[in-house]
Amino acid sequence: MIKKLFRRRGMSCDAVMEVLQSYLDGETDAETARLVAAHLHTCTDCDQETATFRRIKLSLASTPSPVDPAIISSLQHFSARLTRGELG
Ligand SMILES: [Zn+2]
Repeated sequence: MIKKLFRRRGMSCDAVMEVLQSYLDGETDAETARLVAAHLHTCTDCDQETATFRRIKLSLASTPSPVDPAIISSLQHFSARLTRGELG
């Protein structure tokens, strides 16, 4: 319900997922960053995906040793969902 209302004014989940990586890398413009942040505030789905992404990034940044299999598995799960269009 909230999602539908929000979609009329803000970014869609698809749009957020498209720029999420750039957003986390700080590569989006200020307006996009603002819209993404606003969306994540109201959308639990995207917020959780973002948290997963952040964990993956942190893990990659902080561990030069082999990546935790749990992280790889959640990344694969995330990619699979993205490919099947299950997000948003
Ligand atoms: Zn969303």
